[in-house]
Amino acid sequence: MPTLLRNVGEFPLIDRLVRRLRGVGPRLPLGPGDDAAILPALPAGRALFTTDVLVEGVHFRRDTVPPRALGAKALEVNLSDLAAMGGRPLAFFLGLSFPADYPLAEFDAFAAGLRASARRAGVALAGGDTTASLGPVVISVGVLGKLRSRRCIRRDGARPGDLIAVTGPLGAAATGLRLLAEGWRWGGRGVEGPGTARVTRRQARAALRAHLFPRARLDVGPVAAERGWCRAGLDLSDGLASDLVHLCERSGVGARIERGRVPVAACTRFWAERWGLDPWKLAAGGGEDFELLLALPETALERWRRRGLPHPPRVIGQVVERRQGLREVGEDGRSRPWKRGGFQHFA
Ligand code: ADP
Ligand code: MG
Repeated sequence: MPTLLRNVGEFPLIDRLVRRLRGVGPRLPLGPGDDAAILPALPAGRALFTTDVLVEGVHFRRDTVPPRALGAKALEVNLSDLAAMGGRPLAFFLGLSFPADYPLAEFDAFAAGLRASARRAGVALAGGDTTASLGPVVISVGVLGKLRSRRCIRRDGARPGDLIAVTGPLGAAATGLRLLAEGWRWGGRGVEGPGTARVTRRQARAALRAHLFPRARLDVGPVAAERGWCRAGLDLSDGLASDLVHLCERSGVGARIERGRVPVAACTRFWAERWGLDPWKLAAGGGEDFELLLALPETALERWRRRGLPHPPRVIGQVVERRQGLREVGEDGRSRPWKRGGFQHFA
């Protein structure tokens, strides 16, 4: 019989988790173990805080998302929000609700995924809460970040004439989600699924990796903010179709997107062709790519490119006056109204 969380109990479990994360990220004035954490002081206007909840059955399925991926992803989705603001992570809080019959080995894998992501980002576990759940696994993460300067990337700064760009190809995560539904799995060694050809497995692996192990763009968000390159931006969590609308609404502008310039992930093109699907649907309609969607003046784009940082922005369109609305220009040169799309809870 595998050991279950009920055989361990709350306090030993918290201990186990805290020990795993010890020494990761900066030293805090007071970390886990007391009634509250003490966080480092930050200058006025420089502290960022963001939080996200993941619910089994709503955001992920236990039978398709390995616990290691879940641990990493729970943190990465929050780090992505920080990156999109131009902040650098400092400390995180972790609220956990797991069923009593959850296997300890899977909990350990969850903690290992969390640790890997925390180490990479240099963020320390500050505290949290742990409870039993009578139903789904629920994971709630909150991350404290800092801005190094006054500059940050908000959603409301885009101006007509700015270029609209993304930091990488889109669609891979949505493609991975679809592959999970088709029976593909991320196994211990490589992928498993209905297809043995090498190219098939390679393209499945790329898509599953994007869906299960997303990486927050911490390598570009903070630098771009600190150099003052971006006028506005956000991370692509819901998908371009809906996140572009958020950017435009908050900035009070319109946009013109050239469909042919939106970079589509290679695995998305590969699978879309097999499925007889329009790759654009996966690239614009699918979420969770966690690339950044940015509005920036052309001079800033040139500077960014000259610096040779990773993920140079790829221009997909332009900010226009609000009255011109949101439009997409097809490869035939004709312009149509932007289709909003995207997932909404409670709908
Ligand atoms: P309280 O009863 O005061 O809420 P708890 O017994 O829930 O305290 O937590 C004890 C300590 O363990 C606290 O410092 C809390 O931050 C930490 N802790 C509990 N759960 C977690 C978790 N999932 N991750 C990190 N720290 C945790
Ligand atoms: Mg508690």
